[in-house]
Amino acid sequence: MKILALAAHPDDIEFQCAGTLILLKERGHEIALATINNGSCGSATLPPDEIARIRADEARRAAELIGATFDCVGIPDLESVFDNPTRRKVAELMRRTQPDIVFTHFPGDYMPDHEIAGLLARDATFTATLGNYPTGAPHPAPIIKRIPYLYYFSTTEGVDHFGQDVLLDIIVDVSSVMDKKAAMLCCHASQREWLRHEHGIDEYVEFLKRQSARFGARRRCAFGEGFRQHRGHAYPHDNILEKLLAPKE
Ligand SMILES: [Zn+2]
Repeated sequence: MKILALAAHPDDIEFQCAGTLILLKERGHEIALATINNGSCGSATLPPDEIARIRADEARRAAELIGATFDCVGIPDLESVFDNPTRRKVAELMRRTQPDIVFTHFPGDYMPDHEIAGLLARDATFTATLGNYPTGAPHPAPIIKRIPYLYYFSTTEGVDHFGQDVLLDIIVDVSSVMDKKAAMLCCHASQREWLRHEHGIDEYVEFLKRQSARFGARRRCAFGEGFRQHRGHAYPHDNILEKLLAPKE
């Protein structure tokens, strides 16, 4: 199967669903990573264009580490809007990728770029199937034939705007691939160094471990990642993720 993880910023995927992607890759599935935003606010010292270039390279390296591709819609950080030009760009990305399964941000994550990225991703899983929805791309990709399975990875720290735990219907045990998940995150060296400078400790990786341990605790395993499946009208309802990750006979 072809699996697309579509998040707001470079490194969001590593925090919320990279372990699951590694497990799926190990089972022979094809993985594509993509972001809506280009990471332009991710520095206290470098100008937006320069840090965006650096972060695209970092995200590409993280993707290469697990044999995945990387794509970016290119919206500057904090400039996400749910408008028609952006919807078309994301639909085109969806058609280029032709996914069977899509992972994106949980509704109500902590900041608007994340919320809008989740909405754009969900929107594109639908619009990309419609022949009468032109994207305006110079060489448009073919429509996708079926609405893909859609999963939301957990909000940051697993809580909603009000501090309540969000309802997750799947916790994937990623303990066996935790080192590789951390290695992917560490490809985002500009962010790791920034936090190390601010906190004086390796807060980037520590936060990743704390958060993954928190999801793991819900399933009594060391490290986990949490998801909820979109089961609204017209979307596939069967839990394909659980099937794909079931222990081999
Ligand atoms: Zn983010």
